[in-house]
Amino acid sequence: MIYTDTRDSSVKTDFRTAVMNGMNSATGGLYIPVSFPKLDSSFINKTPEPSFREIAFNMAKPYVEGEIPDEDLMTIIADAYPFTPKVVPLDSISYVLELFHGPTCAFKDFGARFMARVMSYFNKTENGTLHILVATSGDTGSAVGSAFHNVPGLDVTILYPEGKISKIQEKQLSTFTGNVRALKVKGTFDDCQKLVKTAFTDEDLRNEFRLSSANSINISRLLPQSFYYMYSSLVVKNRAPLDSKLENPAILAVVPSGNFGNLTSGLIAREMGAPIEGFVAATNTNRTIPDWIATGEYNARPSVETYANAMDVGAPSNYERIKALYSYEDVKSLFASYWLDNDGIKSAIADCNTKTGYTIDPHGAIAWKAWDDIRSGEMQKLKDGCKNDWTKPGLTPNLPAWADKVTGKNAVSIILETAHPAKFGNIVSDAIGREPAIPETLQAVMNLPDQAIPMENDYAKFKEWLKANLQK
Ligand SMILES: *Cc1c(COP(=O)(O)O)cnc(C)c1O
Repeated sequence: MIYTDTRDSSVKTDFRTAVMNGMNSATGGLYIPVSFPKLDSSFINKTPEPSFREIAFNMAKPYVEGEIPDEDLMTIIADAYPFTPKVVPLDSISYVLELFHGPTCAFKDFGARFMARVMSYFNKTENGTLHILVATSGDTGSAVGSAFHNVPGLDVTILYPEGKISKIQEKQLSTFTGNVRALKVKGTFDDCQKLVKTAFTDEDLRNEFRLSSANSINISRLLPQSFYYMYSSLVVKNRAPLDSKLENPAILAVVPSGNFGNLTSGLIAREMGAPIEGFVAATNTNRTIPDWIATGEYNARPSVETYANAMDVGAPSNYERIKALYSYEDVKSLFASYWLDNDGIKSAIADCNTKTGYTIDPHGAIAWKAWDDIRSGEMQKLKDGCKNDWTKPGLTPNLPAWADKVTGKNAVSIILETAHPAKFGNIVSDAIGREPAIPETLQAVMNLPDQAIPMENDYAKFKEWLKANLQK
């Protein structure tokens, strides 16, 4: 596969370079494959559907062709995914896709574990340590730290905004030892991301250290997230006619979104033939994308803290990829867009529990509520010409191409549940009156000592620290 760049389509490179560089420091752009090959329809139409790992292998193959032999790719996939995503029905036309069955109980395990193994594979033939710098608003850091922990030749420095992530998240980040460490930055997630981005474009630093990223800007995190969209849409395609009594209903994916890496992965799966009609981008008060969809104007802004803090992103990095792949008109026809404020998030957690019995986390709750509103009349109102005020919580006033499927009651949804509710126990218990049960993997880190290193929001200080502390 040839990879190009969102800012310069004359750039042509291979998977290895795209993975190891993270982003193109010459242009500041992000890598994207030049094509998204469709899976064979015989594979997609198999009943029962192929297993998650089989799907993962077949989807990854074209992107690594000529660079990772099949056998090695199979090992990478088997090693990355000892767990699978689970499709859980909520009612006859709604499914939750549980993406929290990995070691850190968040969907980012899917991307991070694949990336770590691919990087380790490529690094075997390089000299010296590869330094991963990663900014996190919560879940990225622990997924990356866990995925890279004790992997030889790789070293990870995690930056997170001090005081802006949950207690469990902080424990998960700050208790690593050995080749993984966390810096608690006096600033926001965007500040952390800026420090990392500045380091990547710093020639002087790059001459001294081999640097790479692990944020959702790395293509090796984005591609594997498409696996579970394909998997879940095939599961739902096969069972929805039985559950819903509908013939061939449209499948919608409702995606809690921050940096829009997850949603971009969904678009990739759709390009590759996943039977997904369209998407709902569900977000919080950081409504940069809803505003763009409503007005056509994209304005990055400082991030605002919310209960769904893994989506506290004011300048979503994958906007750049979405823009490079689709026109604004295409986006409006593919996506509905929806946002909730903190009060809305809390009510959504409570409503979901009352209506379905399911305990959902604050990120998934926005997605659930988006679907609940869409199916119960909000899409019809838009069709009837009601112009929603997009500066208020709710649905953005655009009619996607699939709106008729919803109003004609011929659509089912896959709601992506991106984290285990216990990671946000306080908010969930405020909403439903009891704490969600804590999975064992999370319980274990709560007893480990905190090792985080304090850091000013100051590039010169950050650079000085890197120079003094990283091994060559
Ligand atoms: C990272 C994260 C998101 C947002 O995913 P993006 O790919 O950044 O859009 C949503 N929910 C949870 C729990 C996350 O950790």
